[in-house]
Amino acid sequence: MKSSKVSRQARYEYEKSMHDLKKISRAGICIYNPSDFVVYAGVLKRYEGASVIAHIPHGVVEIADGAFTGYDKLVEVVIPDTVTTIGEKAFCGCTSIERINIPANVTSIKYKAFYGCTALRKIGFEKSNKSLYIEDSAFQLCSALETLDTKRDIEYIGKQAFAECFSLKNLFLRNKDQIFIDEGAFRNCNALVHTEIYSIVSAKYPFLDHCRTSSYSRLRRVTFNKRSYLKNSVCCGAPLSKMTKKCRNCGLKHIKRTF
Ligand SMILES: [Zn+2]
Repeated sequence: MKSSKVSRQARYEYEKSMHDLKKISRAGICIYNPSDFVVYAGVLKRYEGASVIAHIPHGVVEIADGAFTGYDKLVEVVIPDTVTTIGEKAFCGCTSIERINIPANVTSIKYKAFYGCTALRKIGFEKSNKSLYIEDSAFQLCSALETLDTKRDIEYIGKQAFAECFSLKNLFLRNKDQIFIDEGAFRNCNALVHTEIYSIVSAKYPFLDHCRTSSYSRLRRVTFNKRSYLKNSVCCGAPLSKMTKKCRNCGLKHIKRTF
């Protein structure tokens, strides 16, 4: 699947807003329009702006369920470092968002929070000493995402959290501790080439399933922390060959290493 292209009009509006924003910032004026945001007791309930850039006000602690659902003109969202929770379907179907930065205080990204953000190319994770919980389908169908490189501890990656990210080539999970990866977390990510998991993986079910489905697949091996416990392959659930450590079904090599 090709990633959706942002229309010329949306691009123009984006550039124009960026230009205006810079002008306004230089003038030292508040860079967002407070009436665009419906906020109650630290919870951003709803976005009502028309801008293609949403600067969420500083002080917001939670982005409520569905706060931005379907805002398909939104190209950029700036999340302040006061936010701890991104609610269910908060940005679901925001098909023009190109990048997102997850601030250090965010500890929970809920169900389908970024589901179907088909223009999302980059997710930045700020370094943090708090661990992050990514719920089921949180980034499912982010079909433009090419690299996922976590710079912070992630405690849990839910079912199909990154499934159908058809452009995902590079996957680096950089936990210090254990990470629990649930069933089908990276299902159908069939563009994967480099997969290195520095953390100690705990996985009951395959999570790289259908990533190596055709002869075009470039994913040949996946590297794990030596302390990970893997009984069967993480791709097909088939047993690993004792000699070669390859999946007996598709041949994906499972390497264990000390990082
Ligand atoms: Zn396999």
